[in-house]
Amino acid sequence: MHGKTVYLDNAATTRVDPRVVDAMLPYFSEKFGNAAAQYYEYGRQARTALEAARAQLASLIGASPEEIFFTAGATESNNWVIQATALAGKKKHILTAATEHHAVLEPVEWFRKNGFCESTVLPVDSTGKVNPDDLRRALGGASGAGLVTIMYANNEIGTLNDIPALAKIAKEAGAVFHTDATQAVGKIPVNVDDLGVDALSLSAHKFHGPKGVGALYLRKGTRLPAYIHGGGQENNRRAGTSNVPGAVGMGRAAELAAAEYIADGARQSALVEKAWAAIAAAIPKIHRNGHPSDRVPNILSLCVEGAEGEAILGYLDMSGVQVSSGSACTSGSLDPSHVLLACGVPVERAHGSIRASLSHETTDADMDAFVAALPKVVERLRLMSVTWKG
Ligand code: PMP
Repeated sequence: MHGKTVYLDNAATTRVDPRVVDAMLPYFSEKFGNAAAQYYEYGRQARTALEAARAQLASLIGASPEEIFFTAGATESNNWVIQATALAGKKKHILTAATEHHAVLEPVEWFRKNGFCESTVLPVDSTGKVNPDDLRRALGGASGAGLVTIMYANNEIGTLNDIPALAKIAKEAGAVFHTDATQAVGKIPVNVDDLGVDALSLSAHKFHGPKGVGALYLRKGTRLPAYIHGGGQENNRRAGTSNVPGAVGMGRAAELAAAEYIADGARQSALVEKAWAAIAAAIPKIHRNGHPSDRVPNILSLCVEGAEGEAILGYLDMSGVQVSSGSACTSGSLDPSHVLLACGVPVERAHGSIRASLSHETTDADMDAFVAALPKVVERLRLMSVTWKG
C-alpha cells in the first residue's frame, strides 16, 4: 500500500472537479434566484446561468441548446423516454438489450408487466455487443415498434455498441432510437448527429459534475410528451423549479470534459492495458471481460476464478484500494451480474467479477497499488476456498 486511498470506481461516480464546485457555489447563496422569475435581477441571473449551462452541454454532444432538457439524472432521462413511449396511445413495442443498466431494464419491464407495452430484450455476443442483424430481425417481426433503446457504453464491462448502425435500422422501421450514453459522455467524443440518435441520456456525476442532475437530449421534431407535469419549466416538458447550481455544475463539467477529460482517454487506456498485462502474468485463471477495442478507455472488468467478487472488494478495501464488483447500483445483491451472464460468462466465474474504473485523476501509482494488491488478495481467498482446485 502506498499510503493514500486509491479510488478506482469512477464508473460508479466521480469526484466533483474543484473548478465545478467553484462554478456552482455562487448559485447557492448569492445568485439564488428562481430561473422562472424574470421580473427581477436574481431571477434573470439564474435564467442566464441555466441557459449558459444548457449551451455548454449541447456543445459537448453536438446538439442545439433547445434539444437539451435538464433532469435529475440518467435514471430519470431513461424513464422519461420509456414511460412516454409506453403511455402514448396505441400499445407500442419497446426493444432493448440484455446488458442495459437497470435504469432501462426495470422501467421497460414494469410497463410491459402492467400491460402498457410489449417488449423484446435483444441478446448480445460474448463481448457484450448487440448484433445489428438481431435488431433488424426483431423489428421485422415486431408490430408498431415505438422505441429502440440500446446503451452506448456498458457500465460494467465498457463495451461500446455500434450506435450508428443500430439507430439507422431503428429509424428505417419508424421507431424512435434512444441511447443511454451515461458511461460514454465525458469519456469519449459523443456527437448526436454522428450517432444518428433521436434521444440520449447523460448524467453529470459520471464526468466530475454533481450528483442528482442529468439531461435528456431530444432531437428537434421528436415527439415525446412531457414527463413531469406542473409548472412550465424546461419548455413545458419537465416541470419543477430548475436546479440552477446543479445545471451550472454540469455545464462546467461538460466544458472541462471537452477541453481535458476526453483527451486523457488514451493515457487511461494505456494504464488499463499495462495493469491487465501485469495482472494476467501474476494471477492464473483470471479473465478479462468486454470488447478488446470497442470500449471506453477507463474500464477494466475481470473475472477471477475461485474467489468471490465481494470478498475481493473487501480485502482490496483493507489495502486501501476501492474497486467495484460491477454495478454500484446492484452491489449488495448476491446475484451474479446480468451483464456477464448475458455475455455467456459461466455463473461460477461471474461471481468472481471485479471492475476497476479510472478517470483523468487516476495516476500510475494508483494502478501500481491495485496491481500489487490484487494477486495477494486472490491468493489469500483461494487458500480459504473449499471449491478452488487451482
Ligand atoms: N445508466 C448507466 C449506464 C449508468 O451507469 C448509470 C449510473 N450507474 C445510470 C444509468 C443511472 O444514472 P443516474 O445515477 O444519473 O441516475
